[in-house]
Amino acid sequence: MGEMRKSKWVGGLAHWTDEDTAYISVAFSWMLPKARQLAMDYSKNYWVRAGGPAVWVRPKYLADVAQIGGEVDALLHHNSSATIASRGCPVGCYFCVVPTMEGRDFELLWDFIPRPILCDSNLSGLPIHFQEFVISRYKFEDVPLLDANSGFEPRSFDGDTYIRWKKINRGPWRFAFDEIGEEFEAKRTASILKNEHSSKKRVYVLIGNEPIESGKIVSSLFPKYKTSKDSSESSFSLKNFNLFPLKSRI
Ligand code: SF4
Repeated sequence: MGEMRKSKWVGGLAHWTDEDTAYISVAFSWMLPKARQLAMDYSKNYWVRAGGPAVWVRPKYLADVAQIGGEVDALLHHNSSATIASRGCPVGCYFCVVPTMEGRDFELLWDFIPRPILCDSNLSGLPIHFQEFVISRYKFEDVPLLDANSGFEPRSFDGDTYIRWKKINRGPWRFAFDEIGEEFEAKRTASILKNEHSSKKRVYVLIGNEPIESGKIVSSLFPKYKTSKDSSESSFSLKNFNLFPLKSRI
């Protein structure tokens, strides 16, 4: 099992059929127009259901061409290597869809199946005993953690978190720097990760979340980090905010 590899993401828009129903799952809101076209095409032959974060944010957009919402396990259709061990987040950042969509209390999925891509929204914020449980499941099943995909939150990431997840994390260390108020915690996280190779560090920043352009803020705080991609052109982005990765050149 140790040589397991990551599958590719389908790109934010998953769709599949099961008997007489077509399912459409939309991760990113700028993909809603494409999802709408798909729904119209499918509706000629199938009952259509639609969900995902983008549909949650704009429920009316597909409401006339699909049944919206409901409990459907769509993650594996986005990436067959992906799994999730918890839902929700108690932090409640105003710009984030997770607390409203999944709740502000963590839902701990004790029966989760370890796979190489772990998609929990806030791994470092989880109860420590559950973090230990998740790590032990990966070790017991001998499944490599190749990507802690939604990463760690600087507010709760400390030296112990690093030591804990270092045991199994073979992928990049992802963390967010969403608000200037997180400067201290973001710098602390960068400091904790200082011995990790540059290729294994990723900082995520919300564009438009501060009065001045976020990339400039981060560039000034982390002069050795540089933007690698700017996706701010998307017209259907969540509240006009987008995430983009900064890749360390240290
Ligand atoms: S800590 Fe992360 S997952 Fe939680 S509300 Fe804030 S941005 Fe969302």
